[in-house]
Amino acid sequence: MTVIKTTCCIAGGGPAGMMLGFLLARAGVSVVVLEKHEDFLRDFRGDTVHPSTLELMHELGLLDEFLKLPHSKVREVSLQIGDDHLVIGHFEHLPVHSKFIALMPQWDFLDFIADHATRYSGFDLRMRSEATDLLLDNDRVAGVRATTPDGPIEIRADLTVACDGRHSTLRARAGFSVEDLHAPMDLMWFRISRKDSDASEVVGHVESGRMLVMLNRNDYWQCAYVIPKGTADEVKHAGLDKFRNSVGDISPFLRDRLHEVDNWDKVKLLTVEVDRLRRWYRAGLICIGDAAHAMSPIGGVGINLAVQDAVAAANILAEPLRRGTVTLDTLKSVQQRREFPTRVTQRLQIMMQNNLIGPALANQGRRPRAPWFMKVMQWPLLQRIPGRLLAFGIRPEHIHA
Ligand SMILES: Cc1cc2nc3c(=O)[nH]c(=O)nc-3n(C[C@H](O)[C@H](O)[C@H](O)COP(=O)(O)OP(=O)(O)OC[C@H]3O[C@@H](n4cnc5c(N)ncnc54)[C@H](O)[C@@H]3O)c2cc1C
Repeated sequence: MTVIKTTCCIAGGGPAGMMLGFLLARAGVSVVVLEKHEDFLRDFRGDTVHPSTLELMHELGLLDEFLKLPHSKVREVSLQIGDDHLVIGHFEHLPVHSKFIALMPQWDFLDFIADHATRYSGFDLRMRSEATDLLLDNDRVAGVRATTPDGPIEIRADLTVACDGRHSTLRARAGFSVEDLHAPMDLMWFRISRKDSDASEVVGHVESGRMLVMLNRNDYWQCAYVIPKGTADEVKHAGLDKFRNSVGDISPFLRDRLHEVDNWDKVKLLTVEVDRLRRWYRAGLICIGDAAHAMSPIGGVGINLAVQDAVAAANILAEPLRRGTVTLDTLKSVQQRREFPTRVTQRLQIMMQNNLIGPALANQGRRPRAPWFMKVMQWPLLQRIPGRLLAFGIRPEHIHA
């Protein structure tokens, strides 16, 4: 059995793990990042790089290079609920360098971070390497067991960080208790080609019994058809024609292209989960990102929250990791720093689920109407609030490590 020793072992090369690995390596800490897939080229991982993340790129001196990657800019997010047209957020007034959301395939974002991280000698990214279990020294986590193309390995580390997403193996192995906050919907994802004459912004449209969100990926729309939780089989059973018609009823301008969705293999089911750990850490181990708190896709904040967790964790952990002085209190301060933003963000997502999405999906008759609090937010001064929340989240982090 090969045994590798490092200061920090990060399981999972998503936004949380890659950003944390990069920042720690940049701060002089040796890290091994394990990613179970062979590349970052997986679809449907969310594409929304918000101003908070773009501002971090600026702080790292990487913004100009980052924005050379193909992306589209969302300067305003709007939503149609029945006959009500609402602006959910616009970003021109924000005091940041990039006053927009960059819609960029997540694999480009992760490749970019990986490329910069590998410039530091302490950064060791191992693809096709899956963390399967925790190594324990008495009750203290001392690293992980992993499978790799060359066979099983052990990584012994002063600290292990679980960034392995919402179905985290390590958080399950650690026995952490999870609070399930429930989501009333699942998503069916598919692509439809985009014409230059189409709108360019994010399009969200809620009608009775259904909802469609469309993300502009330049030459195609990434579409999310929102369905009541657990009803994917019913939708499929009703047939592809009915599915296409329903999409066409919500967004008639797509009708001439709906034949592109010509079999169910082109429609992927993504189950939505919202949960969080009561306690994110134990001796030798901490969870961040979706492993600590799975986020609903509402607002497209998950990637950005995961990145914020990584920045806070790097700020707090870099020095103690270098000195070998990470204690339970150090880990506790990471949870304390990030738990409040997580709770508030999830509460807002649940408010949207309970007051808008759940009722709209349950209602098969009357056209839905925008809830009162969303209408109030249309007043010009108040309209800035959701824009700021979307852009920065709660308690935005800055690079200190
Ligand atoms: C349907 C849907 C749509 C979404 N859309 C958006 C959006 O548009 N914008 C947005 O900001 N957020 C979106 N989100 C949320 C967002 O995807 C997550 O919040 C975010 O990716 C969390 O980042 P993470 O690094 O914590 O975890 P993940 O992105 O899940 O990354 C975890 C990584 O760990 C790897 N891994 C898993 N297990 C292991 C293991 N045992 N060993 C090694 N590697 C492992 C995985 O391959 C993966 O690369 C969406 C979520 C869903 C469900």
